[in-house]
Parts: sequence; structure tokens; C-alpha cells
Amino acid sequence: MSSRKSTAQQKNSHNKIEGLTYEPWGMPTERVLRLNAEYAKKEAENSSRKEIIRHLITPAELLHRPQKNNPRPVCDCRQADIYKYSRQRMVKEQLAARGITDQAVLRAMETVPRHLFVNEALHPTAYDDRPLPIACGQTISQPYTVALMCQLLMAERGMKVLEIGTGSGYQAAVLREMGLNVFSVERIQELYTKTKDLLTKKLGYYDIQLFLSDGTLGLELFAPFDRIIVAAGGPTVPDALKNQLAENGIMLIPVGSERMSQNLIRVFKLGNVCKEENHGTTTFVDLVGKQGW
Ligand code: SAH
Repeated sequence: MSSRKSTAQQKNSHNKIEGLTYEPWGMPTERVLRLNAEYAKKEAENSSRKEIIRHLITPAELLHRPQKNNPRPVCDCRQADIYKYSRQRMVKEQLAARGITDQAVLRAMETVPRHLFVNEALHPTAYDDRPLPIACGQTISQPYTVALMCQLLMAERGMKVLEIGTGSGYQAAVLREMGLNVFSVERIQELYTKTKDLLTKKLGYYDIQLFLSDGTLGLELFAPFDRIIVAAGGPTVPDALKNQLAENGIMLIPVGSERMSQNLIRVFKLGNVCKEENHGTTTFVDLVGKQGW
């Protein structure tokens, strides 16, 4: 590997996609580079925004460090930047093209570096149209499912949202980037500890409140919640969650009498009455707990 280039050299190498050998830690996989190059080319043809090619994985981006006064010390923004175009492509081709129109959701998903929430070996596949395994036999949902659930929440900035099933922390970060006040509960100690470390020390999301407990019982102490989002499928809608939903609140939860196959249910709480709406079949891991499986 050759050493870091000077600013003048970096400027001259803007148009080069091949030969990115100047940073050992910044070497994107060939596949990511190829996909990004194809995307950038298509974008440039479609919109005549030629500058997108010029900006494609420039050394300046790879070398980007957080500003001194930026409170969010993104753990490895060099890596995050490598996947910037993968994120844009995901948002455009998997989300916007399939009917996700909520700008707050699209913006949040373009911002959160999804690859940092999965094992390093899976980084190049992090923006693919599918769920991915995380630790302890759990999964991080497909990007479209995350976006659909966030959109169906119909949340407004500043609302208090309870997430059941922190898992990798990806959805919690997306909800935070949407401007929500996030409380997230995980039942598996190992995931809770690992994710807390990632979200806080590494990504700087100190304002997401994380809890280790049985989420089917909600978080009585912090109720009511304007919105509740459950990232695991149970046999019924837990009464505790219905009770902790604020008046005019909305909850999203996969419910099914069989494991591994559920209907995505949206619950509206009008006064003390809960009205349910079905948003189609889906597959989530089990919601395990006193009011789950
Ligand atoms: N939102 C997560 C998805 C994780 S998968 C993400 O973006 O990665 C679902 C998670 O729900 C798993 O981590 C699982 O351990 C957790 N879970 C299942 N039952 C739970 C319960 N009763 N309370 C809290 N978490 C639960």
C-alpha cells in the first residue's frame, strides 16, 4: 500500500475509481466499488449530474474526520463514507421505488451506516434487499421492512417511542435520526451489552435509552408512549403494551398464531379502545416473554 496522498494528489485522483490503494483500512471490496460505479454512472446519465462521478469515493471522503465540535464521534466514518453510495442506492431502489414516501424515514436511512450494525464480514452485503444475521441467532430486518414500519408509525419529531427488540440497534438509530425520543428494550444480555457499546461509545447515540428486560411488559415507569414499535412476532398484542400506549397513540407489531409467520398489525388507540389494521404477512423472530411466546 502506498502512503496517504497530499491534497493536490487527491484532487488529481478524483476521477479514478480503480487503484484505490492509498489506505489499507479504506479498501472497499471490489463488489461495492463496482456497484457504486454502476450507480454513479446511471445517475450521471439520468440527471447529467456529472459531479457525482467526481465525488465517487474520493480520498477526501475516505479521510474525513468528524468536526472538532461535532458531538457525535462516528466510530469509523471512513468506512461509513465508503458505503455512502450504497446507502443512496438502497434508499432509491429499495425504498422510494416501492412506495416509501416519508422524507424523515428516507433521510434517516440514508444517514445511518447500516453496515456498522452487522459483523464485518457482512459489510459488503449490508445494503442488500434482505435481512441479515446478528449475534445470538437474531436478525436485523430487511431495509424495506424497517422503512415500512417507520413510515406506518406516522411519527412526528419529538414524540416518545418505545421499541421492543433492540437487537443490533439499527432501527433504534433510524428512529433517533427521525427526531424521535427513543426508549428501546432488549431481553438478551449479550445483545444489550454489545449494542449499548456500539450505539453510545462508537456511534455517539447517548440519547437513545436502552433497557435490558422483558419488552412484552413494556416500560411501565416511562409510559405512556406516543408510538410503540415491536421488532419481534408474538401470538397476540400484549395487554401491557396496549395499556402503555398514549391516547391517540399508534403501535406496530407482527402478530401470528404460528411462529415465524405473522401479520404486520397497526394498532390505533382511540380513547381506551384499540382498533387494529392488517398490513400483510411478514416474518420476524419470536417475541419471547411473559406476554409473548
Ligand atoms: N430492531 C432490531 C431487530 C432485532 S430482531 C434491529 O434493528 O436490529 C428482534 C429482537 O427482539 C431480538 O434481538 C430479540 O432478542 C428481541 N426480543 C425478542 N423478544 C423480546 C422481548 N420480550 N423483550 C425484548 N426484546 C425481545
